[in-house]
Formats: sequence, structure tokens, C-alpha cells
Amino acid sequence: EKFKDGLTKTRDNFSNKVNDLVSRYRKVDEEFFEELEEILIGADVGFDTVMELVEELRREVKRKNIQDPRDVQAVISEKLVEIYDSAGETSTELNIQTEGLTVILFVGVNGVGKTTTIGKLAHKFKNEGKSVLLAAGDTFRAGAIEQLEVWGERVGVDVIKQGAGSDPAAVMYDAVQAAKSRNADILICDTAGRLQNKVNLMKELEKVKRVIEREVPGAPHEVLLVLDATTGQNAMIQAKTFKEATDVSGIVLTKLDGTAKGGIVLAIRNELEIPVKFVGLGEKMDDLQEFNAEQYVYGLFA
Ligand code: GDP
Repeated sequence: EKFKDGLTKTRDNFSNKVNDLVSRYRKVDEEFFEELEEILIGADVGFDTVMELVEELRREVKRKNIQDPRDVQAVISEKLVEIYDSAGETSTELNIQTEGLTVILFVGVNGVGKTTTIGKLAHKFKNEGKSVLLAAGDTFRAGAIEQLEVWGERVGVDVIKQGAGSDPAAVMYDAVQAAKSRNADILICDTAGRLQNKVNLMKELEKVKRVIEREVPGAPHEVLLVLDATTGQNAMIQAKTFKEATDVSGIVLTKLDGTAKGGIVLAIRNELEIPVKFVGLGEKMDDLQEFNAEQYVYGLFA
């Protein structure tokens, strides 16, 4: 239900247009496909992904000898799920250790909803009975540490921090030691999201990861990239840059509730081949949902 609610804007945009399209056309012809392409591109599905999808649709329509445009709608859903699933790993499950500490690193530029997502995820783990610690690794942006502390308080988990401007790697070292000595299950680490300089970003993330790896063999167990769904193609560019800078294991797409262009999920997934593990559907603690391709696609039409 939450998933469905969060997709309201996209659904209103997308399914209304598709419904309108299939009711206007009497047969499935080239013009029909062209209009469909425009609708999909308008929903931020991404050019390459749209081309792939519409090509598949053309083939399927021919194969099944579909004449009535209204019968194309079900095929669209089917093909959207297929395209999503065929782009590699689909599991949204986080790599959580059954024994010992799990370290989750968060990356992403400022304003995308990184702090909020860390808070939501900490809340989710706490609800599952796990003990959680947060590491304030964004020592660069003014207010980042305080903002993480606000979430820590709200959720009831401690934040390991140093002063503003301190070395993020040193914060990580402290945080790992604290997590070990407290027998914490999960350590969630914030990082600075400076994209202006890719070399610096890469260096900082490398350094932070090196400390974590050295102190906890096999860690970080997840590197989650947070992207803002409302930023469309900008989110794609960010994703590409971070993918080059570090090994991203999953994506959290925030503010899906705030956009009519939720097709960005498919573009990111299909063009980057990184699974979308969570989506943000609001500003509150409970507004983080595990991503599910079928729920998503059928939510676009339901
Ligand atoms: P950060 O700079 O990346 O840490 O971003 P914040 O966590 O501070 O979030 C920036 C703004 O986006 C805040 O006003 C959040 O409440 C809001 N936000 C974060 N996630 C979501 C979401 O899933 N939906 C909506 N509607 N707002 C969100």
C-alpha cells in the first residue's frame, strides 16, 4: 500500500497518458509506438531503456499478433519487469552478517536524502532487534554531524563523531572500535558527498574503506549510493561518477513520492546494472521501502 501511495504522482502522470493513448488509437501502428516512446521518455525511463523496451514491445505485438491497443498495456508491464530483472542481480537483500559486525557505507551528494535514509535504515534495524551505531563521516559539510545526531536521537541510536573538519578515516576508526567494544550488530557510516572533484572523492572513499577493511575483514558489506529521484538525468550522472569512484553494491532512490517521473528507477537499473535496494517514499522514519520490481511496475498502472 505504501509503495502504491508513494507512486501516486508517477502513476497519475504515466498511466493516465498510457490510458489516453490506448483509447485514442484503433490499431497498434508505428505512430502508436512513437507516442508511447515519448510518454516513457517523459517519465524519465531513459532513452536507451525506452528504445530497448519499445523494440521488445514491437516484437511481442507481432509475435502475438496484437491488434487492439488496449492489449498492449499488459505487455508493457510484463516487459518493464523483464527489463528490470534482466539487468543482473535483483536481490534487494542486504549483505548482513549473521555473526559479528556488519558495516554499511553510505555515499551520495548533499541534499539527496542521505542522512534521512541512514536514520530510516537505523530505525528499521532497531525494529528488528539489532543494535545499531552511526558514524558521522561527513566532516566536511557544515551541520552534517548535528543533522545525523538529530536522527540518532529520534531513532534512539548513538552517533560516533569527531569535530567538524576532522579526518573521516579517523572517525571511521573510532566508530569501528566503538562498535566492536559494544558488540554492535550494525554500523552505518555517513560520508561526505563532494562530487566537484572526482579524484578527491575517490581518494577519500578509498581511505575510509581501507580503514574499515583493515579493522573488519570483509567490510564494508554494503556500499549504498543515495540518489534523488526528482533530479532525473542528474541522478544518472551522479550514479555514473560514483560507480567509477567506488564499488557500489546498491542504490537507494529517495523522494520517489515527490516526482511524477518515477521511471528513473528503470533507467538507473538498466543502464548501470546496480540493484535498487530501497526507495524513499516520504520524510518520516517508516517511509523506506524495500524495492520490488513487480510491485513497482504494477503500481504504475494500478
Ligand atoms: P542529505 O544532505 O543527503 O543528508 O539530505 P537530507 O537527509 O538532509 O534530506 C534532504 C531533504 O530531503 C530533507 O528535507 C528530507 O526530509 C527530504 N527527504 C529525504 N528523503 C525523502 C523522501 O524519500 N521523500 C521526501 N518527500 N523527502 C525526502
